[in-house]
Amino acid sequence: MSTQHLPGQPHFAYRGDELFAEELGLAELARAHGTPLFVYSKAAMLSALRAYQRGFAGRDAQICYAMKANSSLGVLQVFAQAGCGFDIVSGGELERVLAAGGDARKVIFSGVGKTRSEMQRALAAGIGCFNVESEAELEVLSQVAQDMHLQAPVSIRVNPNVDPKTHPYISTGLKGNKFGIAHERTLATYQRAANLPGLTVVGIDCHIGSQITQEAPYLDAMDRVLDLVESIEAAGIPIKHLDFGGGLGIDYNGDTPPAADTLWAHLLEKLDARGFGTRKLMIEPGRSLVGNAGVCLTEVLYLKPGEQKNFCIVDAAMNDLPRPAMYQAFHQIVPVSGPAPDQPALEWEVVGPVCESGDWIGHDRMLQVQAGNLLAVMSAGAYCMSMASNYNTRGRAAEVLVDGAKAHLIRERETPVDQMRGEKLA
Ligand SMILES: *Cc1c(COP(=O)(O)O)cnc(C)c1O
Repeated sequence: MSTQHLPGQPHFAYRGDELFAEELGLAELARAHGTPLFVYSKAAMLSALRAYQRGFAGRDAQICYAMKANSSLGVLQVFAQAGCGFDIVSGGELERVLAAGGDARKVIFSGVGKTRSEMQRALAAGIGCFNVESEAELEVLSQVAQDMHLQAPVSIRVNPNVDPKTHPYISTGLKGNKFGIAHERTLATYQRAANLPGLTVVGIDCHIGSQITQEAPYLDAMDRVLDLVESIEAAGIPIKHLDFGGGLGIDYNGDTPPAADTLWAHLLEKLDARGFGTRKLMIEPGRSLVGNAGVCLTEVLYLKPGEQKNFCIVDAAMNDLPRPAMYQAFHQIVPVSGPAPDQPALEWEVVGPVCESGDWIGHDRMLQVQAGNLLAVMSAGAYCMSMASNYNTRGRAAEVLVDGAKAHLIRERETPVDQMRGEKLA
């Protein structure tokens, strides 16, 4: 039987005309657990992680998985067991890290709107670093820490004003974004932080965007951050760790981002050349660790050929896969089993059941399908389940983690009772 790998997704492959995740056929998983169903490959996550680990071999580096990409406990557990830290953006994410067995000391807390109670909980848990995003936040964090007779370890997120050349909704390091401290304000902000009694300055960080497919924006941002470190240290404030954020892209549709190890070989050359090669390094990758480790299986409910468009209505929708509706994002859509006999290949609008015209999963896809067929929406490991909603009172999908020939159900399908928990009639 021939094995045919899908581009960019070595852990998903056709054996004959059946699509497999590692050693398991996806059609059988769909039969066992129903659809829509997210299926993740543990080997794919670990091999994505290993590319970064190879890149940092011999360095003092901490990889903090940016868990907003996929915050399911079973996924967090994979990274916690592999020794990763976590980049969190809310108190809820901290509770998930702790529930999955993650180490609080390896947690960094990002985000522009941390509340006092989130700060208190994170200080009590003993997280590694707060990535502070404004001068106002510095003052509040210092106060909260002082009230608890603690010192908050802080890094300031700087906005290097570098264009990551990605979708405007996922670029974060340009002037005019809500994120980070402007380049020109950085030194003054560090001086303020160093003088606040509840804070200890430990690092600097930047994160310029997401789904970045070029090296140049990273190299530019690194230069700008290192210039800042030089001026901050010249002012007598030592910077222990350098955090270069996340944002590396994945192959959705012939995209060609640099491999993590190649990217870091080049970034480390620059760090070495500028004399920073022995500093503690941190990174916050999200999408590049999980995006191509997951697929969403969905069943074709109805075919509705039309005058202008042919609609292929499937049982997954924008509440499960929000990226097309939110960012006009592209996901490959492929058959789980061989083509239906006698079905002509036609161009289909692949859409879900949600009552919105924006509920589409793929435009103009050439597919040979009939009702009852299973399709796999590829590259669905990042920013899908973690952004899933209950819109239209649709329960969120189940999730399975495949490890070799074993399948672990890591999330049960959400029921209407689950959805109504906590609601009351007046
Ligand atoms: C979202 C985010 C990341 C991860 O971005 P990816 O594109 O998923 O790698 C890292 N750091 C911060 C601060 C973020 O907000």
